[in-house]
Amino acid sequence: MASNASTVFDLPPLPTYTLIPREPLLPWLPDNLLALILPIIAYWVVSLAFHYIDVNDYFPQYRLHTPAELLKRNHVSRWDVVRDVIVQQIIQTLFGLLVVYFDGPEYIGREEYDVAIWARRIRIVQRAIPPLFGLVGIDSMRLAEGLSGHPIFAGVLAGGRYPDLVQNMILEDGKEVMVPAFARWELVTAGILHWYLVPAAQFIGAIVFVDTWQYFLHRGMHMNRWLYVKFHSRHHRLYVPYAFGALYNHPFEGFLLDTAGAGLAFLLSRMSNRQSILFFTFSTIKTVDDHCGYAFPWDPLQHITGNNAAYHDIHHQSWGIKTNFSQPFFIFWDRLLGTQWKGDVSLRYERSWVTAQKKVEMDTTKTSNPQADTAPVSFSKEDEEGPIARKIVNQGMHTKTPSRSVQKEVLVGHLVTGSLRQK
Ligand SMILES: [Zn+2]
Ligand SMILES: [Zn+2]
Repeated sequence: MASNASTVFDLPPLPTYTLIPREPLLPWLPDNLLALILPIIAYWVVSLAFHYIDVNDYFPQYRLHTPAELLKRNHVSRWDVVRDVIVQQIIQTLFGLLVVYFDGPEYIGREEYDVAIWARRIRIVQRAIPPLFGLVGIDSMRLAEGLSGHPIFAGVLAGGRYPDLVQNMILEDGKEVMVPAFARWELVTAGILHWYLVPAAQFIGAIVFVDTWQYFLHRGMHMNRWLYVKFHSRHHRLYVPYAFGALYNHPFEGFLLDTAGAGLAFLLSRMSNRQSILFFTFSTIKTVDDHCGYAFPWDPLQHITGNNAAYHDIHHQSWGIKTNFSQPFFIFWDRLLGTQWKGDVSLRYERSWVTAQKKVEMDTTKTSNPQADTAPVSFSKEDEEGPIARKIVNQGMHTKTPSRSVQKEVLVGHLVTGSLRQK
């Protein structure tokens, strides 16, 4: 016969559990190794897809820069970029392997227990309701008495007391007792917390950490001349960013900003290995997308946060380099600390585009007629002011085979009307 043990069990008891090692997603590869490999595969697959679009010029209307700018404005060859990215990825993998070496195996089996822990917290929080109601002069216990037809409301108002919710339990000495049980709504809410809200909070926490880490280190690299010249200037050899140049960095900077930043975000947020596969891969794809050189209206990664290829591209221009430090997700640090670029950029983008086009044409003339007397064209500080603006692109200025006369007309039109002048 069951006896009442509510004095022993003030709260519903927690279930017992047995831990077993978690099976990896791929039977032949541990999850923590997949978390190292998948981001690298994603980097090259996504960036080569952008590269394919780029070399075939499939979406000229969405380009931030012209092919002529790609040819003339960058201070590093594509092969040097590939080499340095591979170096960074090797360092990143070695560091990851070191972490994996010290990482213990992951277990499953205590999910029900963890949900019950949350359900208990929910039960404890309810205890605050009667005193809180009391502060505004409401007797929630009396209210609860009047709600006998609504046991959930009555239980909550009574401070988490559910006298009808009991269950049998066998104690270690074999004695059967009646103990409190969780209400269904408590278990459902606890399940949502455990399975969805906590992982989401871990993900958001990691994103905020990476954004913060990168913003201050990145800004620091621009404020300190030695740091800039020694390390960060390498990334800025790309005035016209392209997708696989996203991780083109000095190896030290790559390690500090990307590898250490993501690694710390993973450790501090206490993500599981499976979550980290998603987080590392998503971060990598976002960084690639931010350097893709296209402002696509249908690319969700360019619209879920304020940061995207157009935003980061401004930071790659000589005139925008002291702004838009935020990367790779949100731009709240730029907003809060007043480092966000303000104003129209169309004219600046246009200048660079026109100058690059002139250089290409001059090269063509020289090749076809080596004797031709042509004045050299170089990117002045003014000319270095930028890639082509979406505004110009949208006005049909940028075509697959641009006609010089059409370009000139449009450019003159803009200059006369001042429609593209910077605010
Ligand atoms: Zn920078
Ligand atoms: Zn960049």
